[in-house]
Amino acid sequence: MPTAAQINALLPQTQCRECGFSGCLPYAQAIAGGQAPINLCAPGGAIVIRDLAQLLRQPEIAPAKTQTPALAWIDEAVCIGCTACIRACPVDAIMGASKQMHTVLADECTGCGLCVAPCPVDCIYMRPTAAAPLPQARVLSKDSHAAERFQAAQHAQARYENQTARKQRTEAERKQKAAAYQAKLAAHPRQPENEGNALERNQNEPNKRNEFPKKQNERNELRQNPNEPNKSQHPPKSPSLSPADLIAQAMQRAQKQSNERIVPSNHSDFRQNQIREAQQRATYRRYQRDAQYGTPAEKAAAIEWLRQHKAEQEAREAANQQAA
Ligand code: SF4
Ligand code: SF4
Ligand code: SF4
Repeated sequence: MPTAAQINALLPQTQCRECGFSGCLPYAQAIAGGQAPINLCAPGGAIVIRDLAQLLRQPEIAPAKTQTPALAWIDEAVCIGCTACIRACPVDAIMGASKQMHTVLADECTGCGLCVAPCPVDCIYMRPTAAAPLPQARVLSKDSHAAERFQAAQHAQARYENQTARKQRTEAERKQKAAAYQAKLAAHPRQPENEGNALERNQNEPNKRNEFPKKQNERNELRQNPNEPNKSQHPPKSPSLSPADLIAQAMQRAQKQSNERIVPSNHSDFRQNQIREAQQRATYRRYQRDAQYGTPAEKAAAIEWLRQHKAEQEAREAANQQAA
C-alpha cells in the first residue's frame, strides 16, 4: 500500500480544503487509510485522479467537483487594511500592513480562495486565469526536471511549511514570554495596599514629606553668600498662591499673548482649508465604516464611492506629475 507521503506528493499543495480535509496531507492520510475516495481534490482535477488511480491500482473515477483555476485580486480602492486576508493565506501571497492597502503577489497565489470569505468589505475577487498550474513561481521546487505541475506543488508546499514553522516559532516565543512574566510576578508578588501595611511602612520609613523642607533649607543656606545677612532669619513674604490668583495670572498671560499674536493675511483661507480637509477625512472614514459594517445598500454605495475617490486621487496625482 502506498504511503501518505507518496500520495501527498501527487496533490497540488494548495491547502484549499475543497476536499473536506484541513489540507493536502490530511487528505493524503485519509486516502492511505482507505477512508476517502481519490476524486475529492477539485484543483487537482482529472490529472490527479489519474495519478492516484495508478499509484493505488484503482479504477479512475469522475471528479466529485471541478474548479476553474483563478487568481485572487484585491480591489485596492476598497481595502480597509484589516489584515484578515493575510492571516488566511496559507502561502504568504498577500502583502500589506494594518490600515494600509493590501495586494496579492500574483506569482505566489495558488488560487485556493481562502482569503475571500474573511474579507469584511468583499473586495477580494477570484479571477480566472490561463496561467495554471498555480502558483506561477517555481523557484522553491526541489526537482527542476519535474513536470510544471509538480514544481508548482513543491513551491507551494515549501512556502506553506515555512509559514507553518514561522507561526509555531512565534507561538512558542509568545508562550515563553508569558511564562517568564508569570514567573516574575510569582517572584515579586504585589502586596495589596491596606491600612495595616501602610501604617507599618510609615512607622519604618523616615517621613520624606517632612524631611524635604529641612533639606531644602539646608541647601538654601549653603547657596547663601556668607557676607550677606542670613535671610532665612528674615524670610521674604511668600507670594499669594491661592487658586483664584493663579487662574487670574494665567488668564492675564493668555490675554497678553493673544493681543501680541500676529495674524497672517491668509489665516482665514488656511482655516477654511483645514476645515475642508477634516470634512473630507470624515467622509472617507464614514464610507469605510459603511463598507465594513453597513447594510447591503450602504455597503454597495460606500464601495462605489471609495472606487470613485481612488480614481479621482489617481487622476489628480497623474496631473500633478505631468505638471511637475
Ligand atoms: S489542493 Fe486538493 S488535496 Fe489539497 S486541500 Fe485542496 S482539495 Fe484538498
Ligand atoms: S492570495 Fe491566493 S493563495 Fe493566498 S489565500 Fe488568496 S487565493 Fe489563496
Ligand atoms: S479589507 Fe479585505 S483585502 Fe483589505 S486587508 Fe481586509 S481582508 Fe484583506
